Amino acid sequence: MWLGVGDVQEMAQQMQVPVRPIQLPFQEDPRQAIPCPDCTEPMRTLSLYEVPVDACTKHGVWFDAHELAKVLLAAARLP
Ligand SMILES: [Zn+2]
Repeated sequence: MWLGVGDVQEMAQQMQVPVRPIQLPFQEDPRQAIPCPDCTEPMRTLSLYEVPVDACTKHGVWFDAHELAKVLLAAARLP
């Protein structure tokens, strides 16, 4: 599914106890870029909590359900 960075950040913040603002630790990830499934532009290769994710400048960040769950669980475990 496509999510905006703001959507992911909002979900990660809701995982905090108590809920608090956090910065998502996106990192550049040197992988082979894959084309966006919608616009075929090469996507940025990033990682978030060591979960590899791909980002399209037009469409947002691509997650499958499993990846999103991993990211949110990792966010919840942060101090
Ligand atoms: Zn795209």
